[in-house]
Amino acid sequence: MLLEEERAALCDVGRRLAGTGLVTGASGNVSVRAGDLVAVTPGGMMLDRMTPADCPVVDVEGYLVEGERAPSSETPMHLALYAETDAAAVVHTHSTYGTVVATTMTELPPIHYNTLLLGGVVRVAEYATYGTPELAAHVRAAMEGGRRAALMANHGGVTIGRDLEEAYENARLLEWLCGVYVRARAVGEPRVLTDEQLARVADRMLEPPARPRRVT
Ligand code: 13P
Ligand code: ZN
Repeated sequence: MLLEEERAALCDVGRRLAGTGLVTGASGNVSVRAGDLVAVTPGGMMLDRMTPADCPVVDVEGYLVEGERAPSSETPMHLALYAETDAAAVVHTHSTYGTVVATTMTELPPIHYNTLLLGGVVRVAEYATYGTPELAAHVRAAMEGGRRAALMANHGGVTIGRDLEEAYENARLLEWLCGVYVRARAVGEPRVLTDEQLARVADRMLEPPARPRRVT
């Protein structure tokens, strides 16, 4: 079987996405790239019920290379991100707080410094029907400038990573940031970090960690 390990990893992440509530039902999709091939979750299937054989393999143009099932309807979006970024994995969810922000805002304001782990302020990609090339183009544009995450208007979120674990962790981080923002809005008007505050954090993140030694 082609990309057997990668297809097994999709099943594992699918179970974790469902288990942590980031996806429900057959919503969301995941892919991982290995060279010129991409293993992707099948369209219309519960992400916690898949076996590796359920996950088709396509080439970078989207042609089916192996598998019985149809690739996810969002495969064009996944392929657009592989074409434009260093991503080796893409995770798309309909997570609750991400979708709340994607339904009400044009970006997720930087209320916490960990926003920078997603490459900067997370933009909301313009709305288009799911699975269309238009949606793929909007998401690609929202990711420009080294972003690792985008929200999709009235739909959900998408994250990329240099591997599947990183893309999955970015999906969890995106949902956490959106959850903090939405809850903060319920309590009061959230303070947003200034460009200067964010620049200081960015500098600090680039510094090697200090390793103080006791002088004897
Ligand atoms: P698929 O089941 O085709 O992957 O679609 C789910 C989805 O989230 C569409 O945006
Ligand atoms: Zn979706």
